[in-house]
Amino acid sequence: MNKPAICGGTPVRETKLYYGHQYIDEEDIQAVVEVLRSDYLTCGPKITELEEKLCKLTGAKYAVVCSNGTAALHMACMAAGVKEGDEVITTPITFAASANCALYCGAKPVFADIKDTTYNIDPAKVKEVTTKKTKAVVAVDFTGQSVELDELLEHCKQHNLCLIEDGAHVIGTKYKGRTNGSIADMTTFSFHPVKTVTGGEGGAVLTNNEEYYQKLLLARSHGITRDPGLMEEEPHGSWYYEQVSLGYNYRMTDIQAGLLISQLDKLPLFSQRRKEVVKQYNGAFAKLPQLQIQEEIPQSDTTRHLYILRIRPEMLKINRREFFDAMAAENIICNVHYIPTYYFPYYQSLGYEKGLCPTAEKLYEEMMSLPLYYGMSDQDVQDVIAAVEKIVNYYKN
Ligand SMILES: *Cc1c(COP(=O)(O)O)cnc(C)c1O
Repeated sequence: MNKPAICGGTPVRETKLYYGHQYIDEEDIQAVVEVLRSDYLTCGPKITELEEKLCKLTGAKYAVVCSNGTAALHMACMAAGVKEGDEVITTPITFAASANCALYCGAKPVFADIKDTTYNIDPAKVKEVTTKKTKAVVAVDFTGQSVELDELLEHCKQHNLCLIEDGAHVIGTKYKGRTNGSIADMTTFSFHPVKTVTGGEGGAVLTNNEEYYQKLLLARSHGITRDPGLMEEEPHGSWYYEQVSLGYNYRMTDIQAGLLISQLDKLPLFSQRRKEVVKQYNGAFAKLPQLQIQEEIPQSDTTRHLYILRIRPEMLKINRREFFDAMAAENIICNVHYIPTYYFPYYQSLGYEKGLCPTAEKLYEEMMSLPLYYGMSDQDVQDVIAAVEKIVNYYKN
């Protein structure tokens, strides 16, 4: 039998393959150079161009680009009016920022468990944890598959909650034929290099709501306005501006925007390749009962950001940690998305306890993220499949 590298066999490949990698071509480089040769490095025309492009892509009325996805979430919570004493519901299977944004506003994150099949937040659990203090729901399109927007929107409407979609993974996905970004009250994107399109760093908030839009603009730039309609005093002159609320410097540079405009032109290609790789993985892993494949809901036409390999430990002689290490020995460097947020010492210090979301905690014990990115070759994909098959077959019960 083909021996895993971790017990002395030959690895499936000689060079390391990582779980994600950006794809930058000559056009991207030229786009950045063009900005560097222009008059504006920030607050310039590339910002407007990118915002218009994001509106066109998603169908949203307004887009506000910003420094990163975390800033986007903070701005969205500010625009939603999240404040001290409020509660904000989110999933524990996400990056820390999805809950931290509530804390930034003095509110309390409340965790709702996920569905065991899709790994997305369970609308029924959101209902269970909704209280009079709930102000907003931050719903994460985990791996790029859309959350159940209709169910969540209906609940939010009933209870007067703001639905913020943390769409850090979702760019390129459609929900019931509509592009994610124009459906929730606000949708945030991240353009970190591991995400589907990148600006180095970068983020955006999309909305159809003009009131949110105005608040997002203030949040992004110190609470300062140059719009006489929003001022308390008569302008003292043409230099005059006012700070009318507390904001931050969450602006994106034109350098990032230039790169993103060029990257977005390739989104259809990125999306198609990611779908192909997911199809190949699913096809191979469906044959192995020791693995559980993430359920795809028919409402979501998904551009996958992450591919989750979930093991059934009861059908294997090894646990997730040993499986992960065995993959690394084959030179396939996986990752784990995510450690339940409330496991972190900081959240523990705030009084959260393990056991809160059993379905999420079980998933955490059984999953790892396989390599998935545009630049993967067919051989890379075959290597990942060969490594998984080798390890499953060697260690199956
Ligand atoms: C990446 C990510 C963020 C944060 O985005 P940054 O651009 O890194 O600040 C937030 N939520 C989720 C689900 C993410 O994956």
